[in-house]
Amino acid sequence: MEQVKVSLNESDIPRQWYNLAADLPTPLLPPLGPDGKPVSPDMLAPVFPMNLIEQEVSSKKWIDIPEEILNILYRWRPTPLRRAIYLEKHLGTPAHIYYKDESVSPPGSHKPNTAVAQAWYNKQFGIKKLTTETGAGQWGSALAFACKLIGLECKVFMVRISFDQKPGRKLMMQVWGANCVPSPSTETNAGRSVLKEIPNTPGSLGIAISEAIEEAVTDKTGKTRYSLGSVLNHVLLHQTIIGLEAKKQLKSIGEKLPDVVIGCAGGGSNFAGLSFPFVADKINGAKIKIMPVEPTACPTMTRAPFVYDFGDTACTTPLLAMHSLGHAFIPPPIHAGGLRYHGMAPLVCQAIVERLLEPKAYHQKKCYEAALTWARTEGPICAPETSHAIAAVIDEATKAKEEGKEKVILFNYSGHGLMDLSGYDAYLSGKLTDYELPDEEMKKYLKDLENLPKAEMRKTCKW
Ligand SMILES: *Cc1c(COP(=O)(O)O)cnc(C)c1O
Repeated sequence: MEQVKVSLNESDIPRQWYNLAADLPTPLLPPLGPDGKPVSPDMLAPVFPMNLIEQEVSSKKWIDIPEEILNILYRWRPTPLRRAIYLEKHLGTPAHIYYKDESVSPPGSHKPNTAVAQAWYNKQFGIKKLTTETGAGQWGSALAFACKLIGLECKVFMVRISFDQKPGRKLMMQVWGANCVPSPSTETNAGRSVLKEIPNTPGSLGIAISEAIEEAVTDKTGKTRYSLGSVLNHVLLHQTIIGLEAKKQLKSIGEKLPDVVIGCAGGGSNFAGLSFPFVADKINGAKIKIMPVEPTACPTMTRAPFVYDFGDTACTTPLLAMHSLGHAFIPPPIHAGGLRYHGMAPLVCQAIVERLLEPKAYHQKKCYEAALTWARTEGPICAPETSHAIAAVIDEATKAKEEGKEKVILFNYSGHGLMDLSGYDAYLSGKLTDYELPDEEMKKYLKDLENLPKAEMRKTCKW
């Protein structure tokens, strides 16, 4: 019998996070303020605590994980590395398919890895309350969970369409003691102004971010900060524990470095968490195909230009250099709510510009087909977001079969889909449609960026 589960002991948990910013051959372009000048750490201070801002701008390669954070993570970490031998057999592939099972955390995804760290650093800094936005609800529930364990108040603005489609996630937030409201809401200027223009809007992550930031910076006590579940450097940093564990686990069973590393990417955090330690190997000469996967309905990495753009609809955040569909982009209501963001993590984007990564987009029907194959061979029911990674894994494993190569394929099983069964319902009853963003639609949203500073494509041409 092949080994299908690879565990690590608590004592083997990584004690430092890995910071790709230290190793990128071309440095990140700095975030810019409204005047087009780089923002200073001070300017971010009303939004984030200084200890996290320091991580955001750090160029240190390794950053210690505080013992108290590890003590919380031990509830579910190290997570198992599993081998998908039942899928391998079904496909008849010589490939070895491994996955990090991030669905075993209490909220059911990778997100608490950073939620716990962020809540802890905020608490250290004397903060009493965190605000945030959530799309499908995974991030809101992860932050609610972390705030409860650490002793912070938590307010979540949930994208309207998900609030209506996913009442279960809202209840999870309430169980963990958070206050969850639909966005756009009537509680902020940002929310009210969107509602005035488009009363029936399904909402978007961009709008919800504007609301959460507004609520944080307008608290007169100064004890509220904002927390973001993806995109930013410090968030990706906290997720690298996934890839660092995976590396130890593969080594412990004598497996070679992966040939292919895959993760779905909405803002880029779970993909980065698994892949960045392997991007480091690639920078140092290893041959690895590293693939972030997105929906064709929200094709940020595969079709959107590399530009300076705001992180939110109301243009309150600094300008980030990233692939972006435009901050006003309202994506079609596909079921993978976590993959509907208009932008992408600057660290992931700079790695794409360097050609260290090979992004790919899939239609949602193909993803659900992959999710069913997965559930009917391996067993677990994956999150709609995770199904994008599985679709790519099946394609890569099929290619390995055609080539007759025993490739090692590693992917991130970012979360379970037990709270997202309505998407499976739509697929099984034939109601799901594929959607490809028309060029004219994309150009329309990108027009808003014409007067913003241009992002220079800096690359070494080594890859
Ligand atoms: C939020 C989420 C994603 C997308 O976010 P990233 O920051 O790109 O990782 C993917 N999968 C699951 C299960 C999620 O909850």
